[in-house]
Amino acid sequence: MRVRRGRQDPIPHLQPRRGAPAHQDVRPGLTGVPMSEISKRTFLATGLAAGAATLPLGVMAAEPGRKLGYAILGLGYYATQIIMPRFAECEHSRLVALVSGTPEKLKTFGEQYGIPESHRYSYETFDRIVDNPDVDIVYVITPNSLHRTFTERAAKAGKHVMCEKPMATSAADCQAMIAACKKAGRKLMIGYRSRFQAHNIEAIKLVREGALGPVRTVVTDHGFTIGDPKQWRLNKALSGGGSLMDIGIYSLNAARYLTGEEPVAVNAMESTDRSDIRFKEVEDIINFQLLFPSGATANCVSAYSANCNRYRVTGPKGWVEIDPATSYRGQSMRVQLGGPPAPREPAPQPKNQFSAQLDHLSECILTNQEPIVGGEEGLKDLRLIEAIYRAAREGRTIRL
Ligand code: NAD
Repeated sequence: MRVRRGRQDPIPHLQPRRGAPAHQDVRPGLTGVPMSEISKRTFLATGLAAGAATLPLGVMAAEPGRKLGYAILGLGYYATQIIMPRFAECEHSRLVALVSGTPEKLKTFGEQYGIPESHRYSYETFDRIVDNPDVDIVYVITPNSLHRTFTERAAKAGKHVMCEKPMATSAADCQAMIAACKKAGRKLMIGYRSRFQAHNIEAIKLVREGALGPVRTVVTDHGFTIGDPKQWRLNKALSGGGSLMDIGIYSLNAARYLTGEEPVAVNAMESTDRSDIRFKEVEDIINFQLLFPSGATANCVSAYSANCNRYRVTGPKGWVEIDPATSYRGQSMRVQLGGPPAPREPAPQPKNQFSAQLDHLSECILTNQEPIVGGEEGLKDLRLIEAIYRAAREGRTIRL
């Protein structure tokens, strides 16, 4: 399928290569990998094979080999070009339903993925999904301010929820989403795909093993040059904010997962040309600093007018750098650990980051574990985003 022209990919230098299918992961070592052995072992070790008694209601009770069924809600770029093709490499997940406000999209993608009409929903008929036993999980991939309502409706229909980042446009909305899923006894996971990406996993591992010594600094830049001034990302009611909500959140989330700590203080400075038609409602650049309890610090860039996607984490014994770091593909890592700086290939992961993310939630449901990036993880980022906006607005350090 062709990527539509004129659309803004949040990570523009990572558009699919010319001539390659949009879904083709061109990273060496990750194409055509068969079933995940690690995941298979985890799956068996964590009790699936042991029987249905420990499984949550409605899941797998009768059919131990069944893949969990996802409904994709919101058939935009990320859903149709990046996520949906990735079910092909999933072990525990399959695409079974579609939800969209556009009948033509339901028809086109329904036919492409063999989704029967009975499993295609509009936003108005979405609540009827409660009667569809094939759907275990609803994956919300709409503009940000709609994440809350669709998560609440999915939970009410008895479905588990995967929700895209940012989890919502306020911490209060995140709390309401967590409460809705808890009330329904359903799991909630946020689409922080980098936590399933090989280079990022390697960086976290090196830090946790102490290869750098105690982390002292994280420097991370995330930005892209946003185009079409009419898109929802530039409409505050739909986006909740500018670059920070969309791409700067990768700087924030990476600083947290690299240090493994939660910030105790935040500084921020914004630079937005309000005469630029794109930035009438939301910010362009908002750079921020985080102070962690250990004394580690993070310097973070968030921008809608510059292309960057990288981080470097440094301690007294060395550093790890990934550039690009949180892209769809093409990650490249360098380390300096005692000797001169050198490229490093991470341990291969059994699945690409998208399939691994999809399967993680399925495995958590099947084994009744909590996702490594559940609702609380999304809430932490939104609380910090609110503090960053406040720090910039008030021109002072916000203590947390
Ligand atoms: P998009 O504009 O391509 O798609 C948004 C979809 O929502 C469209 O199908 C649109 O029709 C639908 N929609 C429903 N109600 C709408 C409304 N009121 N106004 C506008 N559109 C409406 O956007 P996208 O890039 O696919 O982003 C969707 C979500 O996915 C966002 O939350 C974004 O942050 C997230 N995302 C995550 C990643 C990632 O790498 N994890 C990448 C891209 C986008």
